[in-house]
Amino acid sequence: MTKYKIIADLHVHTVASGHAADTIRVVCKAAEQKKLDGIAITDHGPGVPGGAERVYFWTLPRLARGIKTHTGLRVITGIEEDIKNRKGELMIPAVFLKDLEIIMAGCHPLTWIAEQSAATRTDALINAIVKNHIQVVTHPFGSGYDLNLEAVIDACVASGVALEFNASKVNDMNESLNFLERCAQKGASITVGSDAHVAEEVGDFNRILPLLQKTEFPEELIINRSKEAMESFFKLEW
Ligand SMILES: [Zn+2]
Ligand SMILES: [Zn+2]
Repeated sequence: MTKYKIIADLHVHTVASGHAADTIRVVCKAAEQKKLDGIAITDHGPGVPGGAERVYFWTLPRLARGIKTHTGLRVITGIEEDIKNRKGELMIPAVFLKDLEIIMAGCHPLTWIAEQSAATRTDALINAIVKNHIQVVTHPFGSGYDLNLEAVIDACVASGVALEFNASKVNDMNESLNFLERCAQKGASITVGSDAHVAEEVGDFNRILPLLQKTEFPEELIINRSKEAMESFFKLEW
């Protein structure tokens, strides 16, 4: 039994990502069944081949408002963006993202950042962090793209950006534990996300919770532990 409670899944993909199985309505139903209080719809943008275009993210707040759930599930609007250059700029202009509640970015296959050296990749990510283009760095390890994790964590701490502990990327136990220990030591905030690409994966934190327990990760650094913490970090209203 673990003392850790994650009340919202902050990383979920739908068919809009181009390579995920279920619709926004189906993943919301799954979140209700898992008794989550919230779900963030964070589809891939146009950086990933087949990802959603800007008009989808422009419309997403309307879709989220329209979905009526039985349990009062909070549908949070977001995106998992891609960085397009060393300056840390995102694929979609900020004006199309201004009504979204969570802006995240990470490294994905077949994108600009995937083709770069570790040094350039780290620079680009740090620029996106310090310029506050993003609020969360998704799967900072375990994606197969080398970067200077220490420098990325430091930039996140200095800029009030979170790092994600991603349930689909905890393959290497040492890497996962090292990440948590570094974050705890430096006082870096984390989000926990399933990175679900199919409804069954929504809210599945079974592999994550024992690692938080094992490292005795500071609860106060986990943003999706409470509504209040999410409201304050993401400046959103529940
Ligand atoms: Zn990703
Ligand atoms: Zn993802």
